[in-house]
Amino acid sequence: MGNLIYADNAATTQLDKDALEAMLPFLNQDFGNPSNKYSFAHFPRKAVEEARLIISNCINASPDEIFFTSGGTESDNWAIKGIALNTQNKGKQIITSSIEHHAILNSCSFLEQMGYKVTYLPVNHQGYISIDNLREVIDTNTSLVSLMLANNEIGTIQNIEELSKIAYDRRVLFHSDAVQAIGHIPIDVNNLGVDLLSASAHKFNGPKGVGFLYIRKGTEIINWSSGGKQENGRRAGTENVAGIFGMAVALKKNIDDMQKNITYVQKLSSVLLDKLSNSSIDFLLNGGKSRLPGNINISLKNRDGEAIMHLLDLKGIIVSTGSACSSGKTDISHVITSIGVPPDYAKGTIRISIGKENSINDVLAIANALISVTSYGSI
Ligand code: PLP
Repeated sequence: MGNLIYADNAATTQLDKDALEAMLPFLNQDFGNPSNKYSFAHFPRKAVEEARLIISNCINASPDEIFFTSGGTESDNWAIKGIALNTQNKGKQIITSSIEHHAILNSCSFLEQMGYKVTYLPVNHQGYISIDNLREVIDTNTSLVSLMLANNEIGTIQNIEELSKIAYDRRVLFHSDAVQAIGHIPIDVNNLGVDLLSASAHKFNGPKGVGFLYIRKGTEIINWSSGGKQENGRRAGTENVAGIFGMAVALKKNIDDMQKNITYVQKLSSVLLDKLSNSSIDFLLNGGKSRLPGNINISLKNRDGEAIMHLLDLKGIIVSTGSACSSGKTDISHVITSIGVPPDYAKGTIRISIGKENSINDVLAIANALISVTSYGSI
């Protein structure tokens, strides 16, 4: 990456070196199709099953509850549509929140067009969903509640244990999009009380284009694709062997080092925030007290987040924005709108997502660059 300071780890992360090493044999000499019965397919097949075991251990599930997919978007689509469209689950209401990723929101819009009712729970200023709100709207017509574990923009971590209890008491299935959380905070599907959970490898130093959906044993869900017998006949298609194995190696490594990484990334985040707080920049820190360790989402007063992003880019610093300019008007992200960031701050929203690969010098350079670009006055 040369002198680049990459601080957009919520968008994607750098592939772990051990994960890459582990993937190479399946991209080179061991390219056999795991579905074949001859000896040349043995190693790839063993790798897929070993990955399933490793991943299941990482989240306290059984191997036969892990289904490999092409990533978070597919896992979310499968969970939402797969439960709603299953005629066994007769309820026509889905409950979700206003701050979900578009993989959830657009799957819900698809169902609305088919006549399903979708209820979008609001969030408070920190991005928390109210347990009482969920209790009020859940009814006998509800087939699924889908609420994310950690938000991709503001990092707020929901109290999924308490929210899922409401669904459990009403015999309603519960899905959580854990794409941003897994590998970064501890996850135990039994403690969380979820029936389905989505994950994506590239958010935890695994390769892109691979993920998984955890489906609790006995959950009634339609098969995602029709074809061969892969993934127990539920998601047909030749497996991405290298991706699946690389994902397992990356996840295990992040989980083994989790406490160390959390402490380190939290320290970098607080150094950056302290530096900004001691500067003359007028900003609001978005998100809840319980937040992903590396997430810093700030809204700067009377500033343009997109312009700041480009100016930092020119200085070799990569962050993202919560607002985008299209056809002369600024679009504020649905998350920033939902948490009610005041209009004079909302347009100046940027997300800095620190990862374990960042250094103290990186965060000091980011703070200095932000102080410098905002001193121009007009952006
Ligand atoms: N869900 C959340 C919360 C995400 O942050 C993302 C990606 O940004 C996705 C789903 C989609 O994951 P993927 O990029 O693997 O399709």
